[in-house]
Amino acid sequence: MQNFKQILAIDPVSRSARIQAGIYGPDLEKQLKPHGLTLRHYPQSFEYSTLGGWLATRSGGHFATVYTHIDDFVESIRMITPQGIMETRRLPASGAGPSEERLILGSEGIFGIITEAWMRLQTIPQYKATQAVKFKSFEQAVEVARALAQSGLNPSNARLVDALEAFGSGLGDGASTVIIVGFESANHSVDNLMQEALQICHNNGGTWQVKTGNKSAQNDENAEAWKKSFLHAPYLRDEMMKLGIIMETFETATTWDNFPLFHQKITEIAKQALKDICGAGSITCRFTHLYPDGPAPYYTIIARGQAGQELAQWDKIKALVSQAIVDYGGTITHHHAVGKDHQPYYAQQMSAPFDKILRNLKTTLDPHWILNPDVLIGKLSN
Ligand SMILES: Cc1cc2nc3c(=O)[nH]c(=O)nc-3n(C[C@H](O)[C@H](O)[C@H](O)COP(=O)(O)OP(=O)(O)OC[C@H]3O[C@@H](n4cnc5c(N)ncnc54)[C@H](O)[C@@H]3O)c2cc1C
Repeated sequence: MQNFKQILAIDPVSRSARIQAGIYGPDLEKQLKPHGLTLRHYPQSFEYSTLGGWLATRSGGHFATVYTHIDDFVESIRMITPQGIMETRRLPASGAGPSEERLILGSEGIFGIITEAWMRLQTIPQYKATQAVKFKSFEQAVEVARALAQSGLNPSNARLVDALEAFGSGLGDGASTVIIVGFESANHSVDNLMQEALQICHNNGGTWQVKTGNKSAQNDENAEAWKKSFLHAPYLRDEMMKLGIIMETFETATTWDNFPLFHQKITEIAKQALKDICGAGSITCRFTHLYPDGPAPYYTIIARGQAGQELAQWDKIKALVSQAIVDYGGTITHHHAVGKDHQPYYAQQMSAPFDKILRNLKTTLDPHWILNPDVLIGKLSN
């Protein structure tokens, strides 16, 4: 797929482009930039992941609301299967029956190889504003996150970061939960939207620093510091692992009404697991994405590994927390995909008829189960 790295056509009228699936994030944006266009899909793995990978795993980008999943940018998609080529029509939308394109999205390579897609693009944004707002309590910040998600303001960034994680990111004092709220637009000033969002924060006890001479609070330094820390985090994780520190993330989504109990149970179970398996450890939480009906919480656990036992320890923690996520009403993944690690939990999440449909579809398209046989649905249980 590394040779499938070209943008084959740009349609400036419909603002979309035909793009080969092996292209890496930075190269994709580099090729679009001279046209004043962008896909504006930045998963944290942007530098080392491809358009085909994003489509095959239904990745989530940096937009906290509305334009979250890659799914929504797909105009048409082409996949080569052992039984022939599946290619969907270029359409802005369609209500014709079950969606062929949605069947390909998230298929994680088990039905075929995605070779290209027509992707919806955006004009490069000119107006941006971002602000970090502090809250005394986590619960208070959760209510504000919900209010923002349901406000219709659709912030491009709205990340709640709990006190410990905020402290670790150079964002907070260790006592305050922080919400980073941001807006962007190619066409109009976002100051009014930001003022509306800050009013919601203010009404609920939020405080923030206004830079002298910058009352509209654009591009706050704390928010910029967090952005850097967010982009460096994956590299830090690898270094921590080399030092024998177990670090893992669990990302999910649940409804607002379920979140308080869900959060309580996940943190309790994770803390107990860390105590039993590693002696001690910490768990932090942030919201990566917000929806009007619920947040996408992202938990990070850190613990000291026992030399030579790190993988076994990781396995046990992963199993306990993953099971808790499914048991208490979350999804096993909001954007990291299923693969092999999450396969047993995905199996618990779906209905029996759907499981059967996926298996029959796999057998129809790939009768010998050659393509990624252990991924997503798993050959062994077939
Ligand atoms: C540090 C880190 C941060 C991450 N952050 C995010 C994030 O913010 N948002 C997010 O959504 N995900 C994130 N991920 C998960 C992952 O990077 C994404 O899901 C990404 O979309 C995978 O793309 P890839 O090109 O790396 O695919 P790979 O990891 O190479 O492949 C993933 C799966 O898709 C299949 N596949 C790949 N290309 C194709 C193709 N062309 N046709 C058919 N099947 C294919 C592979 O066989 C495999 O099963 C992160 C991962 C890491 C390690």
